[in-house]
Amino acid sequence: MLLLEDVHTHYGKIEALHGVTVEVKQGEIVSLIGANGAGKTTLLMTVCGNPQASSGRIVLEGRDITRLPTSDIMRSGIAIVPEGRRVFSGLTVEENLHMGGFFNTKSEIRKGIEHVYELFPRLKEREHQRAGTMSGGEQQMLAIGRALMSKPRMMILDEPSLGLAPLVIKQIFEIIGQLREEGITVFLVEQNAHQALRLADRGYVLETGRIRLQDTGENLLANPDVQNAYLGG
Ligand code: ATP
Repeated sequence: MLLLEDVHTHYGKIEALHGVTVEVKQGEIVSLIGANGAGKTTLLMTVCGNPQASSGRIVLEGRDITRLPTSDIMRSGIAIVPEGRRVFSGLTVEENLHMGGFFNTKSEIRKGIEHVYELFPRLKEREHQRAGTMSGGEQQMLAIGRALMSKPRMMILDEPSLGLAPLVIKQIFEIIGQLREEGITVFLVEQNAHQALRLADRGYVLETGRIRLQDTGENLLANPDVQNAYLGG
C-alpha cells in the first residue's frame, strides 16, 4: 500500500534519512520505533511531502507521490495524526470533527461524525466541550477521530502515546487496533516500543536515519538487541 524505497531526506545540507526502505502492506499495522532524533518524524513528514525526499521513491497504492505537493498527498487517502495532537483547542469537539471533514459534503460530515461518536462514545459525551479543556487522552482520541473524518484508507500516527498515563496509553493502543478492524492500514511511529510492537504485524527499528532491523512485531519484541536498546533490557 505504501512503499518508501531508498529514501534520502535533507534539512539544508544535513542528511537526516540515509536511504530508508519501508513497506506497509494493506490491512497491516506497521510500527516504526527508534530513539529521540533517529529521524522518525522526518520519515513520516517525508511521506507527506514536507520536506520532500531528496532522492528515492515513495509509492502509495501504486502511484508515485514522491514529488507531489503535501495538499495532493493529503487527498490521496492518507490521514496523519501529528505528534502533540494539535487539536484546535478553542473549538469544541464537534467543531474539530467538522474541520477534519473539510473536503466532504454536509451529509458525509454528518455520517462521519456519527461514526466517530460510535467508535468513541467519550467524544459524544463531550461534543460541546472545548478541545483545549479535555485531558491528553481525550485530545488524542479527538485527533484520531478528526483524522477519520477524511475517510482515510491509511492512517499515520506520530507518537500517539506521548505524555499519556499508562492506562490511557492502553486505551489509545486499543483504539489503534480498532482502526485495523475498520479496514484502515496503520503506520505508527512510537517511542513506546513495547506497546507499539505488541500491536504491530511488523515493525522497523530506525537508528540515526537508517533502518537497522525489520521483522514481525513478535520477533522484534523477543530480539535481545531490541530488548536492550528499547525495552529496558
Ligand atoms: P523525536 O522522537 O525526538 O521527535 P525523531 O526520531 O522523530 O525524534 P526527527 O525529529 O525526525 O527525529 O529528527 C531527525 C534529525 O533531523 C535530528 O537530528 C533533528 O535535529 C533533525 N531535524 C529535524 N527537523 C529539522 C528541521 N526542521 N531542520 C533541521 N534539522 C531537523
